[in-house]
Amino acid sequence: MTTPDTAAPEYRVLARKYRPQTFADMIGQEALVRTLTNAIQSGRLAHAFMLTGVRGVGKTTSARIVARALNCIGADGTGGPTPEPCGVCDPCKAIAADRHPDVIEMDAASRTGVDDIREIIDGVRYKPISARYKIYIIDEVHMLSKNAFNALLKTLEEPPDHTKFLFATTEIRKVPITVLSRCQRFDLRRIEPEVLAAHFIHIADLEKVVLTPEAAALIGRAADGSARDGMSLLDQAIALSSGGTVEAETVRGMLGLADRLTVYDLFGKVMAGQIADALALYEDMHRAGADPSQVVQDLLGLCHGVTRLKVAPGALESAAETERRAASDLAGSLSVATLTRAWQILLKGAQEVHAAPDPRAAWKWC
Ligand SMILES: [Zn+2]
Repeated sequence: MTTPDTAAPEYRVLARKYRPQTFADMIGQEALVRTLTNAIQSGRLAHAFMLTGVRGVGKTTSARIVARALNCIGADGTGGPTPEPCGVCDPCKAIAADRHPDVIEMDAASRTGVDDIREIIDGVRYKPISARYKIYIIDEVHMLSKNAFNALLKTLEEPPDHTKFLFATTEIRKVPITVLSRCQRFDLRRIEPEVLAAHFIHIADLEKVVLTPEAAALIGRAADGSARDGMSLLDQAIALSSGGTVEAETVRGMLGLADRLTVYDLFGKVMAGQIADALALYEDMHRAGADPSQVVQDLLGLCHGVTRLKVAPGALESAAETERRAASDLAGSLSVATLTRAWQILLKGAQEVHAAPDPRAAWKWC
């Protein structure tokens, strides 16, 4: 979004300060925005929505925008549902501040029982207090208990006209099909690194900070599709930078990226039989403070990751993109048999490094 709320004097994290307030502010979710905009304009909205996607892609943010879009009355108080909520009317302001009595937000991760759902369902019968629609936003809905889902299902079968359910989940497979079939489903995509990077440069600009393109690209990739995670990284990077400029070097150090990628480099050299190079690199790492047993642990983890990537191309989805790329390069050049052998040697090495009086020396033999 482009209009920071400057009313609060205390420091607010960027993710909160720049939380999108309209669909136009949302980045990287064009399909969702288009469908919801059309549905709101034509008045053809489902009673229940299921928003799925990895963490931090904008599920609850979207749900809140829908809540405002449906309940906005416009600056003059006469407007109807709109894909562009005004942000200034009472319902818009109350929803943004989490204090609208007709917009009920619940986190199923902390309230999963049938009693909690019953409480909601009892409320469904009553008309909204002041808004057009009574809106229930249930986050992490897959966490609901079986009984809670059954109770919910009865309501979803015959939802009152004045009620909308907005569900969000990171694990769609755990939501019963009976519930899913009664929802309009939206899959929120991981946001592309380039889109995130451009967004972070824009945000930094609003914060009167210069974020170099290279630094932005690093944060964009490390955010791994999540605007929220990226904003937290940007927060940290700004805090670590002096002089109003965030350099790539600062971000690299902050992400520990140099260290992780060096381990890939080391593994690659060992597997390519470049032993002298590998030992020289290891000496460098040691001088920089790397712990021998940690290095072996990292190599084991990496070996496991690369092997998984070979058998299941979708593996390592949660890793940062730079790492995924390094891993898939290795997966492309090594056979499963070679990786298995490397795993066994590393495992033995881990024990020896652990037991040796001079772990650094032991490391070289493993
Ligand atoms: Zn409004």
